[in-house]
Amino acid sequence: PDATKEVLELSDKLSKQIAEALGITSQVAASSAKFGEEIGSRGNVKDMTDPSQIAAFVDGVIRATAMMERQASTYTTDLASMNEKVERLQLEVSTIRQDAVTDALTKIGNRRHFDLNFSTAINVAREAGEPLTLCIVDLDHFKQVNDQYGHATGDQVLRLMASVVKDCTREGDIVARYGGEEFVIAMPGTSIQKSLNVVERIRLTMENKRITKRSTSENIGSVTASFGLTQMRAGDTAAAMIERADKYLYEAKENGRN
Ligand code: GH3
Ligand code: MG
Ligand code: MG
Repeated sequence: PDATKEVLELSDKLSKQIAEALGITSQVAASSAKFGEEIGSRGNVKDMTDPSQIAAFVDGVIRATAMMERQASTYTTDLASMNEKVERLQLEVSTIRQDAVTDALTKIGNRRHFDLNFSTAINVAREAGEPLTLCIVDLDHFKQVNDQYGHATGDQVLRLMASVVKDCTREGDIVARYGGEEFVIAMPGTSIQKSLNVVERIRLTMENKRITKRSTSENIGSVTASFGLTQMRAGDTAAAMIERADKYLYEAKENGRN
């Protein structure tokens, strides 16, 4: 709902800015037309023989030019201030775009970020004949963490998990918080064996973290996670890979978690 409000406000500001730009443009057009008329109404200088008539003509041109110059300088000021406003709006647009693909709690990509990039990664990997792996991560007994230590501590653990995932992955990997306590990692150009090493490092790092509840400094031990890892097969779709990874995740849960 907040993002929608921001987008509406922004589109409002953009409309106003466009109206202002059109206003300035039409003023410029009107005053240069007026300048043309002003000069034209004084007749053709080639037909003039009387020096006083020529002097009056030149005088008129000078005055019209001075007026045009004064107006041009106000337009320059208007355009400069409009430029500044447009630059601020561009910044706002890019912030809102960034927010739309970012998870507010953990600051890593959200599901939208993942969905927007994963299908492309599949196509790229297929065309290049390169491997692509997908891992789904799910925190173990996370409901208990919330129930025992409170939602704020649960949030703290989610942020920790996100940072561990981020730290253990590479720039080209697609990392996102996929849902409540689930994360996804797509690893383009990475073999299943290398991906397994990455996942194992994440698992161990998480297992070895000693978490303390921030408000009370109470030690809550460690929170582990389970993983479902799969590699792309011929004819795979995003949905098929997610389904397989999910199945393996379920098996990991069944087989003792962590
Ligand atoms: P399992 O090991 O089988 O995955 O058990 P689990 O308890 O982790 O799984 P379950 O699906 O039963 O519970 C997930 C919990 O995650 C429940 C929900 O309250 C919590 N959760 C989801 N999103 C958030 C969030 O944004 N913040 C916090 N603190 N908790 C969340
Ligand atoms: Mg879950
Ligand atoms: Mg869970």
